[in-house]
Amino acid sequence: MATQLSNFVGGHWKKARASRYLDVVNPATGEVMSKVPLSTKEEVARAVTQGMEAFRDWRRVPATDRIQYLFRFKNLLEKHFEDIARTMTRECGKTIVESRGELRRGIENVEVACGIPSLMQGYNNEDVARGIDEHMVRQPLGVVACVTPFNFPGMIPLWFLPYAIATGNSFLLKPSEKVPETSAWLMRLLGQTGLPQGVVQMVHGGKEAVDALCDHAGVRAVSFVGSTRVARYVYARATAAGKRAQCQGGAKNTAIILPDADMEMTGDIVGDSAFGCAGQRCLANSLAIVVGSAHEPFMEVMREAAQSRRVGYGLDEASQMGPVISPQSKARIEDLIGEGEREGARILVDGRRKVVDGFENGHWVFPTLLDGVPQGGTLATTELFGPVFGLMRADSLDEAIEFVNGQTYGNMACLFTSSGAAARRFRSEAEAGNIGINLGVAAPMAFYPFSGWKDSFFGTLHAQGRHGVEFYTQTKVVIERWPPAWTRRF
Ligand code: NAD
Repeated sequence: MATQLSNFVGGHWKKARASRYLDVVNPATGEVMSKVPLSTKEEVARAVTQGMEAFRDWRRVPATDRIQYLFRFKNLLEKHFEDIARTMTRECGKTIVESRGELRRGIENVEVACGIPSLMQGYNNEDVARGIDEHMVRQPLGVVACVTPFNFPGMIPLWFLPYAIATGNSFLLKPSEKVPETSAWLMRLLGQTGLPQGVVQMVHGGKEAVDALCDHAGVRAVSFVGSTRVARYVYARATAAGKRAQCQGGAKNTAIILPDADMEMTGDIVGDSAFGCAGQRCLANSLAIVVGSAHEPFMEVMREAAQSRRVGYGLDEASQMGPVISPQSKARIEDLIGEGEREGARILVDGRRKVVDGFENGHWVFPTLLDGVPQGGTLATTELFGPVFGLMRADSLDEAIEFVNGQTYGNMACLFTSSGAAARRFRSEAEAGNIGINLGVAAPMAFYPFSGWKDSFFGTLHAQGRHGVEFYTQTKVVIERWPPAWTRRF
């Protein structure tokens, strides 16, 4: 009998008041790892109340003391690094190398948030008028909530959590119901730091829990990462309830390939972007606009990248790509490939209907490559979220940039070239928030904002770094008068 996971509320593990439980499945083996509760809105309300109580004291703890818990957390994450990475691979399917890389990027956010005493400083002016001083301070909001997707279970909660608590808020996480065990690791370790009870909490669940977080008057801000459909919904619901919201959505990331690109390097980089994490990155390249004579050589390096990738169980160090998250995901991706073919694309490498020996219950889709993707067709416009890569042609950089800027998503756009002039023009004109020049996964470091645009983001302030600090604080401006005549009395 698989273990039933508990919520982490008020510093304790508590059996959830849940409407029902879902299986947490290892996507490579089909094994049921545990059962995750779909918590009710009453359960969410109980955690929000605890968070509000914790906030009253926590906001008064000096920032220099608050970050001591983060230093301890960072040390515990390092100590248990390998065990956490293995949990990530088991529940999410990515390779162990990818899990380690992901967790490292998460820990970087903990490190950056340790600088909060400087990062959350305000500013001031003496004598804005005679005898009048003005200054701005940043204060925390209260209880802030975070809803995360399945594809980066170790990193995405850490895009938010460290900044939220370092600035003095209490933090309530609703992790993806598909990958709840990694978040349970984070809670266990935070519990060991001695963090006051209720400052960080976790409630498992699905739509009911998310709706409750958006609606509850005690939640001041919602950070969301997931598909565009749900990001748009959460943004509308949370802001209608008067909250701050930052909602990161889906993506359709295009790489423009110019004839002067280093093709071998480009094939390696784009291949890794397209097929790494089984294409389940919001920064996966899933489409190339190949300009002029770049087409033939680029198609060949991509064919090699697709055919040579070793697909297998993520815990096997030799695997270069794992399964996709669920049977539904596999069916959806395979259907989209078929739809692309019916619309006129030519399949060069077909990853459908494949299995890995010994892992017959896994949700496998092997790397798939298509050429001649028609403009406006399914493969050119739909987020595939699988290891599928399509090629389109253009005659010029102008045409390619026009295509990128006509896309509804704006998470990332990449250019491969050896021309500085082309790169300069592209980085200035491309309408996407994260730009890669000879890079296929342009994931900003923790001290930069993760800057999706258009349908990839709803809100103003993004995740990570200074944007995180601004999102989780409200500014207060104090103007005070001390007439010189009064000071002369002493
Ligand atoms: P998802 O939208 O299905 O789920 C995300 C979260 O929303 C989960 O916690 C889930 O429980 C909750 N949820 C799902 N349906 C809901 C509903 N109807 N109402 C309220 N809450 C709901 O996304 P996913 O499949 O877990 O993750 C993949 C998606 O996330 C992809 O589209 C990917 O591009 C995107 N993503 C974006 C970024 C980014 O930074 N822009 C990063 C990672 C993933």
